[in-house]
Amino acid sequence: MTDTAAWRRQVCAHGAALVASRDLAPGELVGGFQGKVSRALGQHTLQMLPGLHVELGHSVGLLAHGCAPNCVLDMHALELLAIRPIRSGERLTIDYAQTEDRLFRQFPCDCGARECRRWISGRREPVNAAGLAYLARLKADRKAWSTR
Ligand SMILES: [Zn+2]
Repeated sequence: MTDTAAWRRQVCAHGAALVASRDLAPGELVGGFQGKVSRALGQHTLQMLPGLHVELGHSVGLLAHGCAPNCVLDMHALELLAIRPIRSGERLTIDYAQTEDRLFRQFPCDCGARECRRWISGRREPVNAAGLAYLARLKADRKAWSTR
């Protein structure tokens, strides 16, 4: 199935990314994937069920996070689907909190989406201490700017 996948790897300034290899319509299959299932949560794993993770190789493991993503993962069919029109060459993104209860590592986000959450954690874990400090700093900076 990977042979017909509508994605390709692209190396950019931030490292390798997954981009669309052709124009895609909402609902279209971007590609299927497989991987070894284990109980270990890793930087390049996706959660299938609570406590069960798929280890990913060089395809889906390269998907970037976006707070307003252009793709969604079907973790039953193990497929990546487009959820809005995607142009050939556009970077493919998913919301990491869509599949993951806990992230291997929480991280700051500056994806550019209007609804950007600024700090990304799993869907069932609180923002950690580093995230709370980061968000407080952002809020203080915003306040400082708005009073100038
Ligand atoms: Zn974001």
